[in-house]
Amino acid sequence: MTVSSADLVRRNAAFATTGAFAGLPFPASDTLRVLGCVDSRVDPGDVLGLKLGEGVVMRNIGGRVTPETLRSWALLGRLGQGQPPSGHLVILHQTDCGTRRLTGFPGQLAAFFEIPEDKLASKAVEDPYASVRVDVTIARHALPPGLLVSGVVYDVDTGLIEVTDPATQE
Ligand SMILES: [Zn+2]
Repeated sequence: MTVSSADLVRRNAAFATTGAFAGLPFPASDTLRVLGCVDSRVDPGDVLGLKLGEGVVMRNIGGRVTPETLRSWALLGRLGQGQPPSGHLVILHQTDCGTRRLTGFPGQLAAFFEIPEDKLASKAVEDPYASVRVDVTIARHALPPGLLVSGVVYDVDTGLIEVTDPATQE
């Protein structure tokens, strides 16, 4: 299914008439953060019902906490005017994630995670319930303690999420 540029311009014109964009504040250090997968079926804004301006959403293959993810969050933190992050980070993985179909490319997968190939099993790419726990653990250790981290798995068949690793202060 191809969506043309003309289609996008029409859709955007309809969006612009809603005024939903008007007057939104720049994201703050406590704005909800979401890390999710690039899969077109699992847009975090839709799945989690986020309004425009309500969440800082980052997406990569699998919604994984990689060294690149951590570097990006550290850089984004510079926008917080010296305030430590104090909000909520949701790590969103899903059933039938495409990463499980990439296990035949261990070299590229290991490079993505920046780990040796023989450590790939530790990333649990075939089980979203395990992979989200792996990433929640990394995030909780790597990020400032004021930031609450939750792990969530989305079921592509039911459309429902399950909070598998609740933030400790929720
Ligand atoms: Zn995925």
